[in-house]
Amino acid sequence: MELEHECPECDRRRSFYLAASTELHLGRKRKWRCPECGYGFVRIGGEVDSAEPASA
Ligand SMILES: [Zn+2]
Repeated sequence: MELEHECPECDRRRSFYLAASTELHLGRKRKWRCPECGYGFVRIGGEVDSAEPASA
């Protein structure tokens, strides 16, 4: 499973891969990660909820 998304670390679009997926009462929480630099962000129910630095 992949997601086309702008990576702020690479400064270009990347095909993020699904690193984790958890079912919450809010909806499905998915953690996406850039295969090039390791930058990750979390989406819940389709909205961008939070981002974390590449070092996390
Ligand atoms: Zn990246």
